[in-house]
Amino acid sequence: MLYKRSSELFIEASKVIPGGVNSPVRAFKGVGGTPIFVKEAKGAYLYDEDGNRLIDYINSWGPMILGHAYEPVVNAVIERAKKGTSFGMPTELETQIAALAISMVPNIDKIRFVNSGTEACMSAIRLARGYTKRDKIVKFSGCYHGHSDSFLIAAGSGLSTFGVPNSPGVTEGTAKDTLLANYNDLDNVKALFEANKNEIAAIIIEPVAGNMGCIPPATGFLEGLRSICSENGALLIFDEVMTGFRLAKGGTQELYGIQADIVCFGKVIGGGLPVGAFAAKEEIMNYLAPLGPVYQAGTLSGNPLAMAAGLEMLKALNADAGIFKSLEEKTAYLEKGIHRVLSETAIPYTINRVGSMISVHFDANPVYDFNTAKNGDNETFKKFFHGLLNRGVYIAPSAYETWFITDALSYADLDFTIEAIAAVAKEL
Ligand code: PMP
Repeated sequence: MLYKRSSELFIEASKVIPGGVNSPVRAFKGVGGTPIFVKEAKGAYLYDEDGNRLIDYINSWGPMILGHAYEPVVNAVIERAKKGTSFGMPTELETQIAALAISMVPNIDKIRFVNSGTEACMSAIRLARGYTKRDKIVKFSGCYHGHSDSFLIAAGSGLSTFGVPNSPGVTEGTAKDTLLANYNDLDNVKALFEANKNEIAAIIIEPVAGNMGCIPPATGFLEGLRSICSENGALLIFDEVMTGFRLAKGGTQELYGIQADIVCFGKVIGGGLPVGAFAAKEEIMNYLAPLGPVYQAGTLSGNPLAMAAGLEMLKALNADAGIFKSLEEKTAYLEKGIHRVLSETAIPYTINRVGSMISVHFDANPVYDFNTAKNGDNETFKKFFHGLLNRGVYIAPSAYETWFITDALSYADLDFTIEAIAAVAKEL
């Protein structure tokens, strides 16, 4: 496949946008080559500026769970746009999507909408600090919670791709309040609580990690975190930006039967428009302004186009519980197919999967935290990525990302992908 026009567009973009992109991982820096410029997308396919059709396993990094240009969402946005695109005043739509989200997710009474996953996590932490009157937070190495200062410390995702452990610009004062723990290591978390008695406001975690590839929580790990938080007066924050409305209607709280104190959302909840949200029980949410002292705001928060898109997306997921089963079955089919073709080669690999989150790590050993994720062979990943791209299959250009499966994928698409992987594996 040729990507000539994309290359030309990237050169033009690079003159006026830093690195030619508005979010670093899009730049293909981790895998080499130039990014693909999209012209349009429908269902499971992207159509690029060179006229190539690609099967999309990124799906806007999660939101397009029912496929690109999903008609109910597109129509809702068009109809709302005709009536005005932003008011900075309340609309009925906001209450409708809030009520629906609360009915779908266990253990939350109130929700506030923001514009991105970053804002959701940033605000959740401020709320947790304000509520507990403590400063420190525990985050896990390799977990990404957006690009606000407190979280840019051993974050996975783009930071790992570029080998940047901590970003310059984050002050030491901020960094000292973020305590790092190893994913799936309860003893490590207990030790941090021992050493910082009555100082930790919250643990924030991707309950199924997706920013160091897919890493499932070990049996008992999330339960253990729940107990540690309850025993120490700290809040447990589930960052469900990736997992929310993907692994189950009610996210990982439903999947594993564990209650978080604050839950963050992004991606799917906006149906492809810029939306994030955070939610909790009433007692905690009432700490937010204008009811409470913790300030949080946004000119475009609850934007009518974004709310219209999100509402249609949630309605579709709420109406058909079969979607999550279908997503899981398709991803399990893909997993089996990848196993089949890779096991016939000498390539060391591990596949991790939870529901419709899956990733292939090029290392034979179990991958259960950031250190084991880093053992993956990036040179093999690069060849794997480009081999697939040349065959019309588009996965995330980073070994540290989960694949985002859409229900728009047909079994024929999955077979095509598995055959492409078999062909690429012969070249590795
Ligand atoms: N949390 C998680 C778990 C994420 O995966 C991401 C984005 N990949 C974010 C937060 C940040 O969301 P956004 O990019 O919308 O700011």
